[in-house]
Amino acid sequence: MSTPKTIDDINLLGGHVALDLVNTVDSRGDKWGPDYLVSYPDLADWALRVDLIDRSEHASLLKEAQAGPAAADVELENAKKLREILHRIFGGEERDAAPLEADLDFLSSACAQGAARQKLRAKEGGVIWTHVPPASMTDITFRIALSAAELLTSRQQRRPVRICHGRNCGWLFLDLSRGGHRRWCSDKTCGSATRVRKFRADRVG
Ligand SMILES: [Zn+2]
Repeated sequence: MSTPKTIDDINLLGGHVALDLVNTVDSRGDKWGPDYLVSYPDLADWALRVDLIDRSEHASLLKEAQAGPAAADVELENAKKLREILHRIFGGEERDAAPLEADLDFLSSACAQGAARQKLRAKEGGVIWTHVPPASMTDITFRIALSAAELLTSRQQRRPVRICHGRNCGWLFLDLSRGGHRRWCSDKTCGSATRVRKFRADRVG
């Protein structure tokens, strides 16, 4: 958990874009929120921060959102729906919970639509997936979905996703720590708050 003010200064601690999307809700414990994705421009700003889109795509998406506010709202809701699905899927990893089929169906469909927006192109001596221009407002959700599916299907080759133990936090992160026993999204915030509470409790006890 952190104490950010807006989507522009929220901490990016998940270690993966799919987990950072989940962490755009500040607290997922007894209290839920605040939600830092309030408008489509918030989503576009966040997508720029995590390198899902580039500056020129960001500018054109903001223009598109301004011209079509109703469509922008629909896209924001789609992104939030994907966010809650990713929270359920990756939040269940620690206890080996199998994802719900309906959640996997939503993710599959977003991936299929996202794949249709990509093309293989030769670049720098190799071949890479590139995005079909121009970017459309749907692309942010599609790109997150493709990246999330890669994370999901690489479970045997990567470190585990964990849930922060901080009180009222619930953020998700890839545990890249050396020992593989990281407990907090951030040692500076949730880790230190937990240590202070324990210190006080020990003194009282
Ligand atoms: Zn935390």
